[in-house]
This record gives sequence, structure tokens and C-alpha cells, in this order.
Amino acid sequence: MDINQLVRKNVQALTPYQSARRIGGNGDVWLNANEYPTAPYFELTQQTLNRYPEPQPEAVITRYAEYAGVKPEQLIVSRGADEAIELLMRGFCEPNQDSIIYCPPTYGMYQVSAQTLGIACKVIAQTADWQLDLPAIECNLDNVKLIYVCSPNNPTGNKLNPEDIKALLAMAENRALVVVDEAYIEFSIENSIINWLTDYPHLVILRTLSKAFSLAGLRCGFTIANKPVIDVLQKVIAPYPLAVPVADIASQALSKENIKAMQLHVLNLNHQKDKFIAELNKISLVEQVYPSYANYVLVKFKQSSTVFQQLWQKGIILRDQNKQLSLAGCIRITIGTQAECDAVINALDNLQKTI
Ligand SMILES: *Cc1c(COP(=O)(O)O)cnc(C)c1O
Repeated sequence: MDINQLVRKNVQALTPYQSARRIGGNGDVWLNANEYPTAPYFELTQQTLNRYPEPQPEAVITRYAEYAGVKPEQLIVSRGADEAIELLMRGFCEPNQDSIIYCPPTYGMYQVSAQTLGIACKVIAQTADWQLDLPAIECNLDNVKLIYVCSPNNPTGNKLNPEDIKALLAMAENRALVVVDEAYIEFSIENSIINWLTDYPHLVILRTLSKAFSLAGLRCGFTIANKPVIDVLQKVIAPYPLAVPVADIASQALSKENIKAMQLHVLNLNHQKDKFIAELNKISLVEQVYPSYANYVLVKFKQSSTVFQQLWQKGIILRDQNKQLSLAGCIRITIGTQAECDAVINALDNLQKTI
């Protein structure tokens, strides 16, 4: 029996998300998934694994709400921000009828989730300086329920102009939700637009513990919006999205003390990033290092595929962006430890002597 003939047409046609783990590699310097380079230590305090967890663990919700400066009712916690991307579609988009907008080059999961659910994508490329093409978005709003934008943007590292997000919110009023993915916002927290929620009932913000909080393995993310939006997501989310150990560790990670520790890590990492960019700029293979508001840098190289492969051979695993719209020759490099950054610089320095 050919199982494939049973598969939904859109899933047959689907290219799954090429996660860093799926691509693989054999290395000791992993700078391809924008993870924080060192692991925090936690112990479980809850051993009641015979019981189902709280659907929305109260300690996690109240602590994150306080940290983010919103009301607990404006928050829903899920299995990473990735689940939140999909929950919004499940709550708001009719399959085979409604559309989402996303703006490449950007994060790949908006497209993959939409395609999995049979929701059409209107793909509106960013402008040459990686900002929103507002006139093109405005022309394409028919049947659009969700507009996904990312700031700081993955993989380019830049932030969107706040005036453009305001203009987008104005054109989407009474038509669509504007979803601003702030997965990396802690690395430039002054750029968060979370306090705009009071003015915009159709603004949605995505956050995660995977990046600055150093907990990618925990799978814990947040959607922040006004209560009517959150109520819809509460209807479609799985009954017990967070395992007991996940809620346990997430609430510990959100203690005052651990938030302070995270903020210190961010300061150090940003400092490390500045040094790394200065070193990259001395490498002749480097054509351009783009400004970054996150924990990675996008770098345009001469002979980028050679650079990517040679470092891969040496066990330094970076993220090739060559195939993304308008990113020919570009590689994204996560900011690692000092030793990991040094390993990249040394490998590049050696390579430029041989080619
Ligand atoms: C990493 C990332 C996510 C996913 O976060 P998880 O909470 O780990 O699912 C979402 N959006 C962007 C832009 C990301 O880079």
C-alpha cells in the first residue's frame, strides 16, 4: 500500500522547516541556531508527574506578565514561540480561504506553518534596506488575517522602523492582526513595542525563553496581546501544552534573580558581539557585516560557499543563508563564547591565506 496517496495534498507538497538540528553537521563549534552558548543549571522542584500539569501554569504566567509589564490575562504560554505562530493561524485563518502575509528574508516557520494548515501565503519581499514594503502590503490585504513581521529580524539582524510598524497597524485596522515576533528582543530591549498593546487591539507580540534566557531545549514561548485575542488562542491550544518539568524550570528562570542574570548575560554577549564584528571586519574574505540587534550577525562573504564548507569541515557549523531571498553570499553566525568566536576568526584568517 502506498501511504503517500493518503497524505493531504498540501503536506505532500510541503518542504519541512530546515532546522539547524535537521541539517546536522559534525562539529564542536555550533553557531547555527542562535542558541545562547552556555547552559543554566536548574533542579526540578515538582515531582508530581502522576498528575496532569496546570493548563496555563500560574507561576509562569504571573512572573512573565510582571517581567513584560502586561496583565496576566494578556498572556498565553505555549511550546515555544513556534507553537504560537501556528496557534494564531488555527484560531484566525479559514483553510483554503484566508491568507497570511510574511516578508522575506525572514524566519521560515511562518510559511511552513501556513502550508501545513492549508493557508495561503502572500509573500511581500522586504525593501533593499530590509524594511517593510508598506505600499505592496497595502495592495495585498484582501483575505489576509495575519501579518507576521520579525524585529529584530532573523536572519538579517536589523530592526524594523517603529513608524513603519505603526503604519502597518493603521492599514491593518479592522482587517488583520499584526504579529510582531520579538524572539530576540532582550538583546535590544529598548526596541520592544510591547507597551503599544494599550493602543492596538490587533497587535500581537511573540516572545520566547529560547534565546536570551538560554533555554531553547525547554520549549517555552509566549504570545502577548489583548484579552480578546488571547481568549481565542485559549480555545485552540492543546489541553496541557507545558509539561510539569517545563513549567517548573520556566518559573524558576523567571525569578527576579534569574532575570537579572539573563540581563547580565545579554550585556556580556552584546559586548562579545561588538568585538567579534570588529575582528570580522579585518578579514579580507568578509565583504560586509550587517548591523545586529540580536545574538547573531549576518555576514556577506566573498566565496561564501567555500567559507561555509571549509568551516563546516573544521567542525565550525554556521548557517548558510545563500538561498534566502536577496541574501546571496550571506552566512548567519550566532555569537558564541569568546573561544568560539576566536575559533571562527582563526579559521577565517587561515582560510584567506590559502585561497
Ligand atoms: C528561534 C525563533 C523562534 C522560535 O522560538 P521557540 O520559542 O524556540 O519556538 C521564533 N521566531 C524567531 C524569529 C526565531 O528566531
